[in-house]
Amino acid sequence: MVDDEGLLLALLNTTPTISGEVTDLLADPETARAWLTEHAGEEALGEDLGLLRSTRDTLQALIHDRAAPAALAPALDGVGYRPLLDDTGLAWRLSTPRDHALAARAVVAWDALRRTAPGRLRACENTDECTLFLVDRSKSNSARWCSMAGCGNRMKARRHYERRRNTRAAD
Ligand SMILES: [Zn+2]
Repeated sequence: MVDDEGLLLALLNTTPTISGEVTDLLADPETARAWLTEHAGEEALGEDLGLLRSTRDTLQALIHDRAAPAALAPALDGVGYRPLLDDTGLAWRLSTPRDHALAARAVVAWDALRRTAPGRLRACENTDECTLFLVDRSKSNSARWCSMAGCGNRMKARRHYERRRNTRAAD
């Protein structure tokens, strides 16, 4: 189980590029089942996969400035906040229909990030080989790759190679 921001990032990252091909972990019933159980437990198995995938596609397009937020409407159908009273006072809890709880939580997390940490949710800069996203929590706001170990090192190696090649060409 992950928090809503973790869920959002995991959902955005269900279309990794593997051996040069963009794959969709939610397209296949087997891998989709495994993903749902891992990120939201058994109760998530009733999630509407079609809606979850279209919500993910819209969120990815939004990050790339290729969609409008209105396209997220189906994920928020029937979603609201419920007041919850206990000894400490009043709290508001997100209330979602069962069949698209994850889609709704991802959209709410996306909106919260957009307001509290604008520009921090972005695509990995290794766009030629990678289709993953990251949330940059660094002070300097300078994270550019989905992971330093993966794309970070690959990009550094490539830049180094290109610099050397350019230097040689100038000789
Ligand atoms: Zn990457």
